[in-house]
Amino acid sequence: MAMDEKLPNSESLNPQAGGTPAEKPTVDADVPSASGKAPSQAGGQAAASQSKEKLTSRKAAKGVKAANSQTTAAPALQTASQAKDQSGQKQGFQTEEERPRSGVTTLLMEILHWMPSWFVSMVVHAVALLVMAMITIPGPVQDVVQQLVVAPGQNEQLEEIEELLTEPPEDINLATDLSPVEVASNIESSQDISPFNDDTAAMASFELNPIGLEHAPQTDLLASVGALSGDAFSGRGSGKERMVRTAGGSEGSERAVALALKWLADHQMPDGGWSFEHQKAGGCNGQCRNPGNLPDARSAATALALLPFLGAGQTHREGQYAKNVRAGLYYLITNRMKISPEGGSFLEQGGNMYSHGLAAIVLCEAYGMTHDKVLAAPAQQAMNFICNAQDPVGGGWRYQPRQKGDTSVVGWQLMALKSGAMSYLQVPKVTIQRAQAFLDSVQANGGATYGYLDPGNGPGTTAVGLLCRMYLGWDKNHPGLQKGIQQLSNWGPSTDKTGPGRNNFYYNYYATQVMRHWEGEEWKKWNAVMRDYLVQTQAQKGHETGSWFFENSSDHGKERGGRLYFTAMAALILEVYYRHMPLYRKQATAENFPLD
Ligand SMILES: [Zn+2]
Repeated sequence: MAMDEKLPNSESLNPQAGGTPAEKPTVDADVPSASGKAPSQAGGQAAASQSKEKLTSRKAAKGVKAANSQTTAAPALQTASQAKDQSGQKQGFQTEEERPRSGVTTLLMEILHWMPSWFVSMVVHAVALLVMAMITIPGPVQDVVQQLVVAPGQNEQLEEIEELLTEPPEDINLATDLSPVEVASNIESSQDISPFNDDTAAMASFELNPIGLEHAPQTDLLASVGALSGDAFSGRGSGKERMVRTAGGSEGSERAVALALKWLADHQMPDGGWSFEHQKAGGCNGQCRNPGNLPDARSAATALALLPFLGAGQTHREGQYAKNVRAGLYYLITNRMKISPEGGSFLEQGGNMYSHGLAAIVLCEAYGMTHDKVLAAPAQQAMNFICNAQDPVGGGWRYQPRQKGDTSVVGWQLMALKSGAMSYLQVPKVTIQRAQAFLDSVQANGGATYGYLDPGNGPGTTAVGLLCRMYLGWDKNHPGLQKGIQQLSNWGPSTDKTGPGRNNFYYNYYATQVMRHWEGEEWKKWNAVMRDYLVQTQAQKGHETGSWFFENSSDHGKERGGRLYFTAMAALILEVYYRHMPLYRKQATAENFPLD
């Protein structure tokens, strides 16, 4: 394709091969909440939270042992580092001479004394061989993954990870089999340890059986998330055309998606990422108007731009945009992800947990679609960070790790966890249970509507809340869901003239997914308006061709994300026919689109 000629190739994006590496993003952990409206937290929790936030910096990660000994909120890590400290102390205090010899040792030495030297040598070599065999039993991938997952703050492990990630993706040969990725278990184990003791009481007020937190219930929530595994992404593949036809797409909508992808590819930066300041991309030179005002939120911009490619079935291995997707993934993993004992973080100025959620969805989807083992560890790392960043009391997420949650940030994290579960990554049950408790705390009207921080009925938060409920297992008979669908249907898509607000694409993005999963007459009615509106409003002139921007939009993303934001969201909405398989037709879809 003509596109490919303009594309940066992977070699030139490799920092090692192509000159100076892109500057590592500064860590904003020390910057207070971007908006300055961090909610107050309970005393002890705030202190723990502050010291946790510092852990996101790479420097802090290297000095994590010291930090952990002060941080009760990471008991698993603390235990590990304490154990190491203690063993270190033993070696420090007791020299070889001082150590008392046991009876066995003395006997051994006597035996050694009269044994022939060749026999001693043979025994020593045999033991050495045995030890070496034991060391090499786990494959290199498993080693790396386990180090990534449990990473008890050992510098050399972080350096190994850096080595792994600074290799260009295609040069990494990790063809050995990948054992199931172990999840960071410090949340579950931490329930027996101090900071979470109050948690149980808090959870009880949300009518969650506290026993259920210690003993996973038979019908656990994760099971319903996990039930989506397997065929969830299959609509993006060979069955795509059929999905477009049967689910309400059109030639016009597919043409619009194709143009949107071309516009996104044309605005990729030379480093492989994207920026909300899209006009800085080489070929644009300011020909397209309406840049966003978050220049530092490169992870968010990159993730948002990559999602429509993945949604259309384009991966780093397949499709005409494979080079673009590869460069974008490589940029995210090597330039943007910060590894810490908390997991792999995409926190950044202006985006924080929003950015993290988006980037995590990208890694999980790319991994789920390709099963490329190179992506397994980074994707699991991103999952781990979400689990560790959850507010341990309320179950939500907000700008910074462990803040009391808001529905909007919760939506992105839950979507990421769902993508992770669909890709067979590990998500602890307790994380899902707590997220459910958060949704309970912001729902109104029997679960039909949702507020931002408290029970309410905002259109955007209602759409997010309902989609989360669908993913967490509410079935079509749930009265809250039924009422919620009616509410969305009454509101309709947010356009110039219809629906809540004006051209609110955050609302449109979530509500369209809800309606698509619901199907039926409500979906047909919704889709006819939404689809045609998007086809009509896409830019058709000059360099802006294929993009969207809505001058009069009431969407918060307008100023922040500009044209790139609208374009990505609109494209994702038009990919709704095949991006995710419909939730309530598992059997039918399994028949139509058998597993690979
Ligand atoms: Zn342009």
